[in-house]
Amino acid sequence: MRFVDLIEKKADGMALTEEEIDWMVHGFTMGDLPDYQMSAMMMAILQKGMTMPEIAALTLAMMHSGDMVDLSDLPGIKLDKHSTGGVGDTTTLVVAPLVAACGGTVAKMSGRGLGHTGGTLDKLESIPGTNVEQSMSHFKEIVRENGVAVIGQTGNLVPADKKMYALRDVTATVRSIPLIASSIMSKKLASGADAIVLDVKTGSGAFMRTQEEAFRLAHTMVQIGRHLHREVRAIVTDMDQPLGMAVGNALEVKEAVELLSGMIPKSDPLYHVCITLGVQMLMLAHLADNEEEAEKMLHEKITDGSGLARLQHMIELQGGDFSYLTPEGMEKLVNVKKKVNVCSPVEGYVTSLQAEAIGTAAQMLGAGRAEKDDVIDPAVGLVMKVRRGAYVQKGQPLCTLYVNDESALHDVEEKILSAVMIGSGEPAERPMVYGIVTE
Ligand code: URA
Ligand code: CA
Repeated sequence: MRFVDLIEKKADGMALTEEEIDWMVHGFTMGDLPDYQMSAMMMAILQKGMTMPEIAALTLAMMHSGDMVDLSDLPGIKLDKHSTGGVGDTTTLVVAPLVAACGGTVAKMSGRGLGHTGGTLDKLESIPGTNVEQSMSHFKEIVRENGVAVIGQTGNLVPADKKMYALRDVTATVRSIPLIASSIMSKKLASGADAIVLDVKTGSGAFMRTQEEAFRLAHTMVQIGRHLHREVRAIVTDMDQPLGMAVGNALEVKEAVELLSGMIPKSDPLYHVCITLGVQMLMLAHLADNEEEAEKMLHEKITDGSGLARLQHMIELQGGDFSYLTPEGMEKLVNVKKKVNVCSPVEGYVTSLQAEAIGTAAQMLGAGRAEKDDVIDPAVGLVMKVRRGAYVQKGQPLCTLYVNDESALHDVEEKILSAVMIGSGEPAERPMVYGIVTE
């Protein structure tokens, strides 16, 4: 086989065979095929697309490019959830323990934050002592005892994706739906879960800027699941404004703890998205007969405190000081040198809150990384005081910054003011959840 022939075939808009895709992914991962040919191939895929059988074959080939996690010795249906990346998205820390409290098994491998989006591992590490690097056997022990554990990737999972993503990043091919779908699904499937619920974000803070693109990505990933005999459902949610009010590591854990303590109303967007994800997870695990029952179970685990207890026990089993995991305890972890309010320069309606810019503002305060090796400050970040649609007076706080290093403060204030649009007309209401994609 010659790679040049396959590139030409794809550039002509024809479908590659499973054998051709296997050969390409294997050869590229081994270093036998050069970056420049793979770059050309990925640009051809971006331009011409792929059929569903091609996307399934690509996902499978990528999944088999490295280690695979075997969770089959754990009892029950192993559940996972994945979000395509957002700002103020603390859903994992809420949903995973809630679903465990309902009898689910959540063995989750998570990632770190980069750029304007936060990562669950960084949030967990803001709790002193917490170790997200666990051996596979200890990870399984924790899941067996507590129903839930969240750790970093172990072993050499999907090396093909690491190499392909690095190339996509510098060849303007990140945004291809077949490439995004196979990248995400190969990693999820290699992590060993039986059933996966995806949260596909759309809006200014997301990969998929439009609803139409987000639904296409969601459908593609659900179809990959069908082809490869795993149960996958996706919800498409709004990421035009931050999901929760808090953006920053300990600040987001604090918000999750408050939610699990029953301090946040059901009408809150973060609450709503968490319940929507949890309902789908319980349905896939056959732990509820219908969605109403699933929803009721999840609310109960907030009211009776058993969801919070699962999170506390998970942190304890992962070596962390779980005594911080109360609303009062979390105060100690967000104890910064200085809190600064950013106030509205005018009176009017908040018409838009650009999630990406707000995420970047938190990152500039030290809550996130611009580059992979940057060190983050767990205590810093920001808490929004308003959401889209609020009416604000001149001088009213729009958000509170939690600051340790003041060097970027001026730029951060500017960033927030440019991210929050204030106008005279009330903006139209927008749903948080645009839809649920099942088979
Ligand atoms: N997240 C991934 O893991 N891969 C992509 O290609 C895009 C988002
Ligand atoms: Ca996240």
